[in-house]
Amino acid sequence: MTDLHRPGFGTFFLPGPTEVRLEVLEAMLAPMLPHRGAAFEHMFARIVTSLQAIFRTTRPVYVSTSSATGFMEMAVRCAPPGPVLSLVNGAFSERFADIARSCARDVDVVSAAWGDIVSLEHVETALRTRRYVALTVVHSETSTGALTPLEPLAQLARAHDVLVLVDSVTGIAGAPVETDAWDLDVVLTGSQKALALPPGLAFATVSERFLQRAHLATARGRYFDVREFEQYAKKNQTPNTPAISLLYATLLQCEAIASDGVEQRWLRHAALQHATEQWVSQTRETLGIELCIYARSGHRSPTVSAIALPAHLSGDALVRAVAQRGFVIGGGYGKLKATSFRIGHMGDHSVDGVRRCLDAVADALQSLKAE
Ligand SMILES: *Cc1c(COP(=O)(O)O)cnc(C)c1O
Repeated sequence: MTDLHRPGFGTFFLPGPTEVRLEVLEAMLAPMLPHRGAAFEHMFARIVTSLQAIFRTTRPVYVSTSSATGFMEMAVRCAPPGPVLSLVNGAFSERFADIARSCARDVDVVSAAWGDIVSLEHVETALRTRRYVALTVVHSETSTGALTPLEPLAQLARAHDVLVLVDSVTGIAGAPVETDAWDLDVVLTGSQKALALPPGLAFATVSERFLQRAHLATARGRYFDVREFEQYAKKNQTPNTPAISLLYATLLQCEAIASDGVEQRWLRHAALQHATEQWVSQTRETLGIELCIYARSGHRSPTVSAIALPAHLSGDALVRAVAQRGFVIGGGYGKLKATSFRIGHMGDHSVDGVRRCLDAVADALQSLKAE
């Protein structure tokens, strides 16, 4: 089985897709179930209950057979008419702004340097200058490893009556998210990141406020119409035929996460980030290899680290050398492609597991340096 599902690859420390446990993969072998019927509804209700514990909400959590981008599109399509403010500090937040533009939104951008986060002062200035219906923000910017604190941002947005649309694709199940307590309007993720499921599903929850205003959006389309998701959620169904096999995997994994307690998962991810940070300083000190983490200290994501490469070292060569040692890590992304590599320390990995991967990276760095 191991060889079958992993032809020539090693253990995944990519920032998505992430390593999926064998038990979760095997859950997908179960036979089909009609998606309109009591057995499905029973299973779906259990999935939603466990997702509610993970998202920290009492609202339904929607499940879409799409990648996370589908729900990013839902968020901007279903927001009421009017201009959108996009916080941009990396490739994925830039993409959120692009998606809004492609849905015919008038988009203004407040930006920060890559590795940094957008300052609240800049957001406030923008909100005072123009009346926005919504703002888009990427919680954990997967291209740089920067984590944006959501609670103060949501408070500020609330004071201006602006909806808060959150891409927490590499946040949910890795970094603390309190959807209800922080009063967030849309929170979305994909299956293949910190939830450690195969790619193919997206999960999102929306506030009552968002739902109430969604009817004003006149071109919601069909596949990503939030009101369709809400109606079907009431029946414990999805609007269209879902990827049933992936739902079997989701049931097993999300019930396991909820029963361990999502706080435990947040703590473990904080420890994984800490171990990575320690490894960077140790590698600098003991091996003399000039590495540094892109994201500013204090704003680092617990799930992903983008690490600047020493001068003259190729990211592609490093990724290849690490793969030969049995681990799949990520290259740089967007404009950091040539100058960084990324460790996705998320999902079901232990601190020892991430250390083994980082040992392999150190070994690969040394061998490339000696060449
Ligand atoms: C991976 C990722 C996405 C895109 O997810 P897809 O599932 O490929 O659509 C969006 N935003 C962030 C922050 C991501 O890490």
